[in-house]
Amino acid sequence: MPHWRRSPDSLVTFRVLWRLLALLFCLQVAFAGVAQEVSRSAVRTSEPDEAYTIRVPPEAIAYQRWGRVIGLSSTALHLMGLYLLLHCGGACRLRDTVYRWLRCSPPQYGHPPALRACALYFLLYSLVALTWRFPPTLARFGLEHAYGFSRQSLPGLLGDTLLSLLFGMALVPVLAGGYWLHWRLPRTGWVVAWLALLPLLVFQSLIYPVFIAPAYHRYTPLPAGELREQVMELARRAGIPDARILVEDTSRRTRHVNAYVTGIGPTARIVFNDTALRILPRDQLLAMTGHEIGHYVEGHLRVHLMAAAIGAGVFLWGAWRILPLCIRRYGPRWGVQHTYDLAGLPAVLLVLSGFLLLQSPLESALSRTLERRADAYGLRLTGLREATARLFVGFAERDYTDPDPPRWLHFWFGTHPPLKERIRFTLTFDASVR
Ligand SMILES: [Zn+2]
Repeated sequence: MPHWRRSPDSLVTFRVLWRLLALLFCLQVAFAGVAQEVSRSAVRTSEPDEAYTIRVPPEAIAYQRWGRVIGLSSTALHLMGLYLLLHCGGACRLRDTVYRWLRCSPPQYGHPPALRACALYFLLYSLVALTWRFPPTLARFGLEHAYGFSRQSLPGLLGDTLLSLLFGMALVPVLAGGYWLHWRLPRTGWVVAWLALLPLLVFQSLIYPVFIAPAYHRYTPLPAGELREQVMELARRAGIPDARILVEDTSRRTRHVNAYVTGIGPTARIVFNDTALRILPRDQLLAMTGHEIGHYVEGHLRVHLMAAAIGAGVFLWGAWRILPLCIRRYGPRWGVQHTYDLAGLPAVLLVLSGFLLLQSPLESALSRTLERRADAYGLRLTGLREATARLFVGFAERDYTDPDPPRWLHFWFGTHPPLKERIRFTLTFDASVR
């Protein structure tokens, strides 16, 4: 029997796996739903003060609508692009090109590909993938320009795209290692792969702010002055007097206002966009600082990292079983000869993208919970309820963030509680209740 023909056993395993995945998915959707309801119940029911009612400019509605269209079509295009690359034979043509350029024949049947073949295939794939990944990026660029937010030039956007492509090449050793482990340990290799991936995840979070982010932006310490004194006083009260507070030259790219926490351990830092320093009044800046200090003190990045580690384990466990079944079932149609055939890479990425999409509600629910905690921490630390509420009103009126996004979209992708909810939470916040 040819190797790719399905045996009854593999069909049963396939069905069991799909059922297991469906069950896992339903469980996590239910879990995310509960988290959302718990988060909503934390908000008192009284209506906020008139002064904090958001007046959404009419053009913001169109901006938000287009933003949603671009975001959703970007996801759909990516999944479709990967599928078409496999279905139309592009994936195996890329593989043939790789071995022709390297002047060598593919590895002996059933053996994993060499690192240099993986690297060249991944590079060619990344260039081909630009055909479906770049149009949404360009559309987002156009939208941001049309509404006067973007300050980036087209060459600047192309430079960023090229940089991301280069950083993406760091995945090549991970991919080659995965192929090798699957070849050596076809049943249990996912555990070894997972254990090897954990320090890499930590390493990535550690080096991101010092090696990767500076390739896109310039970071400088918050200048000395009254604001720095006030920010450091908040940091001292929060028990982090040595916290690194930096300013990012965001205004080279956009007018949007933001601040964030990045890095872990020795590279942890609070970063203000320079746009925030220019636009926001002092009390709103301090309110924003309180929120970011909340993320920093409560170690929310570590929580995200732990969630990513668990997610990586679930993905590897599933991919280890699903991919060989997929290749056995659809390989002959796609021209993919076996699990370690480089032409199967888009199938690996398709499974990964599908997994990321399916786990999105859970990831978003976790993010919203941590954002709510950071809001509460900031309010307890600063006591700036009105300034915090005005900060949120500004996000909707100035930056056109949808204050009340569609429920399903928010459930699936919403990383922060809706602004309307955050304002109500802020104005009714009781610092004595923990
Ligand atoms: Zn936050």
